[in-house]
Amino acid sequence: MERSIFLIYTGGTIGMKQEHDSGALVPFNFDHILEEVPELRKFGYRISTYSFDPVIDSSDANPDFWVELAVLINKNYLLYDGFVILHGTDTMAYSASALSFMLENLEKPVVFTGSQLPIGMLRTDGKENLISSIEIAASVNSAGRPMVPEVCVFFDNELYRGNRTSKYNAENFKAFRSYNYPVLARAGIHIKFNTNLINYPKMWGRKFSVHTVLDTNVTVVRIFPGISVDFLNAVFSVAGLRAVILETYGSGNAPTEENFLKCIKEAVDEGLIVLNISQCQEGSVEMDTYATGIALKRAGVISGYDLTLESALAKLFYLLGVSSDAVFIKKMLKKNLRGEVSFK
Ligand code: ASP
Repeated sequence: MERSIFLIYTGGTIGMKQEHDSGALVPFNFDHILEEVPELRKFGYRISTYSFDPVIDSSDANPDFWVELAVLINKNYLLYDGFVILHGTDTMAYSASALSFMLENLEKPVVFTGSQLPIGMLRTDGKENLISSIEIAASVNSAGRPMVPEVCVFFDNELYRGNRTSKYNAENFKAFRSYNYPVLARAGIHIKFNTNLINYPKMWGRKFSVHTVLDTNVTVVRIFPGISVDFLNAVFSVAGLRAVILETYGSGNAPTEENFLKCIKEAVDEGLIVLNISQCQEGSVEMDTYATGIALKRAGVISGYDLTLESALAKLFYLLGVSSDAVFIKKMLKKNLRGEVSFK
């Protein structure tokens, strides 16, 4: 049967081409994608396109934009086999993380991609990224099931779980990494899927649903030597604040100074959710290893294990949107909801 792909262009470098006369980079009209990238015809898939209007630089991505994207996927969910989202690279990891939580019981591929060079430039990485993403989104196994029914990011021949990625390089074609989870697939001569690492539903046919309420009353505090307790107190007392992501040292450590711990404990006692993630990209928070981590745990801080910052934010936005009950949210923070975290 003919495979069908819904290709969504949100903006970013990938959708630019050089104007013939002036040489200036301008967004190209996605209705004409098959003329711009004629290689796509060779797939023989039904490819429908949708372009955001206006398109955005991904620096302007925000929860409203994620809701628009999620609703668009929901509207078209039954009409297509897979979804490819062309997105600026700067915040792609945030958007992919957010969508992974917003799309519940996803059973179809949602592949984010973009490029470092515009698709209309000679040495572009955009064509390769686009073509392989479409192939991945359309790929099925021998039972006719999608190979990757997850929100993913494809970049420079590698497919990552979306909520495990971070952009780490501003100028290389290899711009993304998944520090704490192996690649889901690699594109060489063939696209090789690591099926043992991909999340497949235990039972197919569950009801797909979309969460559109996100609560952004969250902030991020990066610990540094010399951090002032006054500063922390000021942040913790922001009206409406419900959760703080504490970016700590190494395996989840922070200063042991009494006032510092007291300030955190008081905030937790007043109902603030404090989630501990590491400033290190690789490895995990382990609050039982050092006295400094144990002290945070005693103060009521919750381990974020090996969550990326992008994923920690998305998980909190999503959970705070789902419930007003801090006990429930803390319980859910300790669970692996979308493959975003590994427990030791
Ligand atoms: N600033 C652009 C964006 O994120 C960069 C890119 O597309 O790679 O939209």
